[in-house]
Amino acid sequence: PYTGPSADEIMAKRKEFLSPSLFHFYKNPLNVVDGRMQYLFDENGRRYLDAFGGIATVCCGHCHPDVVESIVNQIKRLQHSTVLYLNHAISDFAEALAFKMPGNLKVVFFTNSGTEANELAMMIARLYTGCNDIISLRNAYHGNAAGTMGATAQSIWKFNVIQSGVHHALNPDPYRGVFGSDGEKYAKDVQDIIDFGTTGNVAGFISEAIQGVGGIVELAPGYLPAAYKSIKKAGGLCIADEVQAGFARTGSHFWGFEAQGVVPDIVTMAKGIGNGIPLGAVVTTPEIAEVLTRRSYFNTFGGNPVCTAAGLAVLKVIEKENLQENALVVGSYLKNRLIELKDKHEIIGDVRGRGLMLGVELVTDRQQKTPAKAETLHVMDQIKEMGVLIGKGGFYGNVFRITPPLCFTKEDADFLVDAMDYTMSKM
Ligand code: PMP
Repeated sequence: PYTGPSADEIMAKRKEFLSPSLFHFYKNPLNVVDGRMQYLFDENGRRYLDAFGGIATVCCGHCHPDVVESIVNQIKRLQHSTVLYLNHAISDFAEALAFKMPGNLKVVFFTNSGTEANELAMMIARLYTGCNDIISLRNAYHGNAAGTMGATAQSIWKFNVIQSGVHHALNPDPYRGVFGSDGEKYAKDVQDIIDFGTTGNVAGFISEAIQGVGGIVELAPGYLPAAYKSIKKAGGLCIADEVQAGFARTGSHFWGFEAQGVVPDIVTMAKGIGNGIPLGAVVTTPEIAEVLTRRSYFNTFGGNPVCTAAGLAVLKVIEKENLQENALVVGSYLKNRLIELKDKHEIIGDVRGRGLMLGVELVTDRQQKTPAKAETLHVMDQIKEMGVLIGKGGFYGNVFRITPPLCFTKEDADFLVDAMDYTMSKM
């Protein structure tokens, strides 16, 4: 049993000693002390179904024994900087990761986070092309350092950064966007930005396949092939941010971009890659990777032996436990149940996503699509009391983000939907 400080004591310390910018979703934030696969346990040993932790890092399940064992074995043996010496943990994981990539994407740079991965990817695109302009999508989240914050396109995540050379294209959002599900029409805006906002040449384009922070917005079909075409014509590189949609989460594919039938020039990843261990990666072609030999490029811990041992264990678990297949089967089942819930509750405006990356958007008026922000928080709080944790996102804060560890079962899906149904029925 847990004998540490209580939630109140931790909260008091957090208020005094931690950044005032930290936030939490719940009226009474949870003190989580243990994790086991898709479950979290609070200080009293109460169990919660974690239907959000998949995004907050965990892909195989909390404390998955194989991943823990790999981490422990490696840290007992050696933990060091990545750069100066040889160690097989690093090259073994790079090889295994390259094996999962399409085309000639086989050179890996490791980082400590998604932000770092996207910063590096954008720099590589700028070096390779000799251009500065980068196009990203409105409603995107790509990180919070100087460059990536420029690419991120939601005011709530943007501080006063100099947004040099970043343009934000029309978001191909099938629910709220002006062209509905016609991806090609939205992509015309990328061409317009190139034609009217740049020299005609650009460094590149960066986007998620399914926007996570933005509220599980799956880009309209046909968008990426058309946008990539314009970018390539303008000499730019196409960057796929797979920080959330990658690693089998979408079920139908291992990488999110694959559903649109494109092959990017650079792929970035983080979060699920290490099942909770700080790790990110940029994967590109040998030819593009060459640009980083022009100067010295160094990252003390990016892809250190302990983190890469975790990464390799994750790939093995995904394979061994058929997690991609599970994401497809359980995700489709869950999505269907949520669509049925939409038929029952007027407040649900949209159910969307793929595999175990699903979104439920709440509106007070289906015609006007008025965001039901307070109701979203209310439902989250109520189902938490019933033992179910989900996330929240979208520009208006009115979208449930359901992104559980990939070991989620149909019974878990039923429990989640029943808790939501019960709460909505009482509203
Ligand atoms: N890209 C996407 C799509 C993300 O969702 C995030 C994090 N929410 C990032 C990049 C940044 O990752 P990190 O927080 O590890 O820097």
